[in-house]
Amino acid sequence: MKNFRRLFENNEAWANAVLAEDPGFFKRGERKQEPHFLWIGCADSRVPAEQVTGAVPGDIFVHRNIGNQVWETDINLLSVLHYALEVLKVKHLIVCGHTNCGAIKAAYGGGGFGVVDHWLSDIRNVMRWNRAELAAIPNVRDRLDRLTELNVLRQVGVLARTPTVRDEWAKGRRPLLHGLVYDVKNGHLRSIVDGIDSAEKAEALLPRT
Ligand SMILES: [Zn+2]
Repeated sequence: MKNFRRLFENNEAWANAVLAEDPGFFKRGERKQEPHFLWIGCADSRVPAEQVTGAVPGDIFVHRNIGNQVWETDINLLSVLHYALEVLKVKHLIVCGHTNCGAIKAAYGGGGFGVVDHWLSDIRNVMRWNRAELAAIPNVRDRLDRLTELNVLRQVGVLARTPTVRDEWAKGRRPLLHGLVYDVKNGHLRSIVDGIDSAEKAEALLPRT
């Protein structure tokens, strides 16, 4: 889609279609949101959280950035996380990477993307920490796919260490952490790590982080 006007035309058609199927849909959503999922995904246009999961507006609280990263110093992400857990009471925290990711390829390829290179430094750390495993994979595409998985594990590990998540677990609430990879060539989601609900499990399952 290239034409900006098409966004409005499509929006009009979509809103009318939703209304025709469920006349109360927008009325209910106007009052409040009650999502059960926080999705931390890549900004890549091919991986829209709602579309690939069949979700509807109100289902998923979304934060996306280049490389689906969780930085302990990122006030934007930390605010989203805090609001999701403390106010919206989401039950599932999802980090979703994807195959053929530009961030993974750029980190692997040594940079050249200006300020984005700084943002990719943590993915380069993941590469360094797993150099031997990655070097043993002969095919570059497979190596990049593995780096995608390792990055997801790393980001789930950082998520598990944030004060907000630790506080939730300390209070006895059990938000579950999940790591997924979306395959852009066939549209399928795959679980990398699932159901992390304690600091102990996070540390045991994610030794490299
Ligand atoms: Zn990406």
